Amino acid sequence: MRVAVCVKAVPSTTEVRMDPVTNTIVRDGCSAVLNPFDTAALEVALQLKERMGAQVATLSMGIPATEALLRDTIARGADTALLLSDRAFAGADTLATSYALSLGLAHLDEVFAASECEGEGGAACGAEAFAAGERETTREGGAAKASAKAGAATSTVQATAATSAQKAGARQVAAPRAAMDQHASPVPFDLLLCGKMAVDGDTAQIGPELAALFDIPCVAGVTRIVDASDRYLTVAHETDEGTEVVEVPLPAVLTVAKDIATLRMPSISGVLASQDAHVTVLNAQAAQADLSRCGLTGSPTQVVRSFVPERSHEAAEVAGTLGEQASALLDIFEEAGR
Ligand code: FAD
Repeated sequence: MRVAVCVKAVPSTTEVRMDPVTNTIVRDGCSAVLNPFDTAALEVALQLKERMGAQVATLSMGIPATEALLRDTIARGADTALLLSDRAFAGADTLATSYALSLGLAHLDEVFAASECEGEGGAACGAEAFAAGERETTREGGAAKASAKAGAATSTVQATAATSAQKAGARQVAAPRAAMDQHASPVPFDLLLCGKMAVDGDTAQIGPELAALFDIPCVAGVTRIVDASDRYLTVAHETDEGTEVVEVPLPAVLTVAKDIATLRMPSISGVLASQDAHVTVLNAQAAQADLSRCGLTGSPTQVVRSFVPERSHEAAEVAGTLGEQASALLDIFEEAGR
């Protein structure tokens, strides 16, 4: 099983600066951390690695300094990492961001192959050597290595040979059919994990958009992996009504809630290995990007104005019958909206 995890670098401070001309966030110069929802997603992936021999790649679109955060994901157990970084990607809205990330995902074969070459002591091997048989061998090796260094994190993944979801009557999630104009084919991963949302952008759109681009199912707000096999996952996720358990065929996208898992600490050997590990960095050209779909140019969303919202601690008391209170409240809202 191949698991890709989208991780976003977010400002470590709440003092986010805005560019007054482009109305975009100024990322250069502010220290960054991994989005907390994404560290939870990474832990889920690492648990799948331990239990099922999954290969784990992390992926980010960001400034060059994001490479250090990706290296940290390798120190914690990811097999390999990929960074999309180019000025052409700057100013992207969610549509342009998910497009760029989909291009990175399309390069996963090469990224995994590069990490496997490293594991083999740099022996000559390339993407063309990444045949199905060799993949199986490597995956078993990966599983053995992973289980040997099992982390101390809380276990949220139960891997079993057969899914029990149908017996339990879990709803099955189907793929959207060609929901967006273009999707990559074939799907280069078995499972794509995203955070439910990024703490700075907060749209929660990227995971579902990637699912639509690849034309595969998406389950949002996953709080628990109930059951896992090579072909299906059974997961619990948040809905407006509460928690629902669904069965989803792979490949699929899951966006995860922050509480699903706590990311393990890196091991000393992991930190040492990560220093020499290969992080693939792709610019727009290497990613074969259509520049008209990248960055500000490829972003149909326009930020007209950005500002810090005014906060007020004024309080008003409404009295009378329920009807009078509702009417008074309406007046207050109308006044505030003017
Ligand atoms: P969400 O959809 O809330 O994130 C969900 C999950 O998607 C994350 O948990 C993570 O797993 C994944 N994810 C999201 N973003 C990334 C990423 N970059 N790499 C890997 N995984 C990711 N932002 C800038 O940094 N610079 C800009 O110049 C800029 N300009 C913008 C211009 C416009 C018009 C708009 C609307 C937004 C702009 N943004 C910019 C914000 C940027 O579009 C969003 O940060 C980005 O699209 C992701 O959306 P989000 O933060 O809401 O992520």
